[in-house]
Amino acid sequence: MMCPLCGKEYDSLSGLKVHFRTVHLTNGTCPVCGKHFRNVTKHFYRKALETNSAFFKALYFLAKERRPRCAYYREIRGEVIAFLSNGGRWFEDQDFGRV
Ligand SMILES: [Zn+2]
Ligand SMILES: [Zn+2]
Repeated sequence: MMCPLCGKEYDSLSGLKVHFRTVHLTNGTCPVCGKHFRNVTKHFYRKALETNSAFFKALYFLAKERRPRCAYYREIRGEVIAFLSNGGRWFEDQDFGRV
């Protein structure tokens, strides 16, 4: 499992989730576009729906708490895990939709 933002590798999804939340989501600023949001997770969710990219789905998935009551979370789980496991295909492949 590779962090889609910095490329750090983890053996487990839960380890990667802790890393993502503590390193990349500390100050309410989106690590991709640099804008401030009251709820960055919601911002990732919107971007995931808007772009339908595995990258934003992965950010949303990692930002969410462990077992959310969210059908979308379950729906994207397989795709996100495949994306995170496929080391080397992170960051540079993605169109971030920067403004
Ligand atoms: Zn990272
Ligand atoms: Zn953003």
